[in-house]
Amino acid sequence: MSDRQDVHPGVSREVLAQKFRAFIDPEYVISDDETLKPYECDGLSVYSEMPMLVVLPETVEQAQQVLRICHEERVPVVARGAGTGLCAGAMPHREGVVLSMAKFNRILEINPVARAARVQPGVRNLAISEAAGKYGLYYGPDPSSQIACTIGGNVAENSGGVHCLKYGLTVHNLLSVDLLTVEGERITLGSEGLDSCGMDLLALMTGSEGLLGIVTEVRVKLLPKPEVAQVVMAGFDSVQTAGDAVGAIIAEGIIPGGLEMMDSHAIVAAEAFAKAGYPTEAKALLLCEVDGTEEEVHEHIDAVESLFKRLGATSVRTSHNEEERARLWQGRKSAFPAVGRISPDYYCMDGTIPRGQLAHVLTEMERMSEACGLRVANVFHAGDGNLHPLILFDANVPGELEKTEDFGGRILELCVAVGGCITGEHGVGVEKIRQMPAQFNDLDIAQFHRIKAAFDPAGTLNPGKGIPTLRQCQEYRSLEMSIEPNSGAENQLHREGGHE
Ligand SMILES: Cc1cc2nc3c(=O)[nH]c(=O)nc-3n(C[C@H](O)[C@H](O)[C@H](O)COP(=O)(O)OP(=O)(O)OC[C@H]3O[C@@H](n4cnc5c(N)ncnc54)[C@H](O)[C@@H]3O)c2cc1C
Repeated sequence: MSDRQDVHPGVSREVLAQKFRAFIDPEYVISDDETLKPYECDGLSVYSEMPMLVVLPETVEQAQQVLRICHEERVPVVARGAGTGLCAGAMPHREGVVLSMAKFNRILEINPVARAARVQPGVRNLAISEAAGKYGLYYGPDPSSQIACTIGGNVAENSGGVHCLKYGLTVHNLLSVDLLTVEGERITLGSEGLDSCGMDLLALMTGSEGLLGIVTEVRVKLLPKPEVAQVVMAGFDSVQTAGDAVGAIIAEGIIPGGLEMMDSHAIVAAEAFAKAGYPTEAKALLLCEVDGTEEEVHEHIDAVESLFKRLGATSVRTSHNEEERARLWQGRKSAFPAVGRISPDYYCMDGTIPRGQLAHVLTEMERMSEACGLRVANVFHAGDGNLHPLILFDANVPGELEKTEDFGGRILELCVAVGGCITGEHGVGVEKIRQMPAQFNDLDIAQFHRIKAAFDPAGTLNPGKGIPTLRQCQEYRSLEMSIEPNSGAENQLHREGGHE
């Protein structure tokens, strides 16, 4: 399998910019370094690269033309939504074009009868729910970044959020997408109906990280707003008990609208920031939201409260109005910026594990944290086992970033070892490409390359992301073999030595 990261176009920046300016407003063809700078990374700013050009088409025809030219000239194309991604998926290619979908920001139709919306890819996630709100409807998947991230980015990353435990990820809430192939051909995947015949290419496209095509229109399902929603907050004196409580709720037959967990570092940071009334002495905190009709919510809230108390919660508090509910969520929603205040830098990981492994993985992570001397704060979607360890570090301390990346890699490998996977919702991008061989063997990876090649034979769509080359897999495996089965601390040292 060839190394598809090595794409070298034979065209200069000036010539390419001139070609684009023939059919796109010159203001939207960016070629000077100062204006290119904001595009050099996504939300994960530890990886960055300046692009050759950024282009912001306003119509599908213009985007088609951009793709045709890039295809002809073998220029890499990296699609970009709002750039809030956390895996360096939208990081530019130094010899490539960033195809920003920012101008595709119109909601084309809200259909309350079909409970569906048709939107352009640059529409913000939250804007869909705001527009659907007047019909008593909303769009289910709610990434914490929903105020900024785009639906095109959500499709590319198969994004999730607090309410995905009950309402599903992006893939479960799509009807169809319109797509431009690498050659600039228009195709539609999925349909207006609930099922489509043929191979499920819509599911394949969802989560494909801009490697297979460019999304130009999205049709999503809308949900009726629940009559009532209430949240129970419970503090626990160990992550073990809180982890057990998560499993117990689901086993009780209750599917919460959201079930989130925070550990002591995250609780203290969030409380100092948001003043949400969190118990700062607790070792773990659960937020369990129940939504539905008034009758079922009351019944389930009673059940959740007594379950928490029975399992040894040290404090239990329930919201009784919208203001209280918003306040309890405020701490969780501002946890990332809150953690940013207690450390010069933090690195957000994203792995998924079976719910039953929560306590074990959190305890093991704490041990690894002590061994390598980096603090870790945990705030995550506990109901679906989607962890977000935030590793606290200082990029100005020489070697600390590498140590952090290594610790992050070890956490992801731990997720795989207990039956989980290396990403829950943020995607692989550049960040987790090194850990792909921990999850997949060479045959699996070769199949990914074949799928990629079926859509993009020259490998110019978002090269170097998502799928490791077989050479990278071999390097990973030989590094693994050179590590003795040993303590986390010693492994850490070996890997630091082996880094780069
Ligand atoms: C504070 C914070 C909280 C977050 N919380 C969550 C969360 O709760 N859940 C979650 O899932 N994520 C979360 N994220 C990550 C991020 O917001 C999501 O991955 C989001 O879907 C990215 O959307 P975007 O528009 O910013 O895409 P970008 O970052 O611009 O791009 C992401 C990927 O999508 C591709 N892409 C973008 N548009 C298109 C298109 N039109 N066609 C084809 N490919 C395209 C890009 O090439 C790239 O690979 C969070 C991020 C931040 C900063």
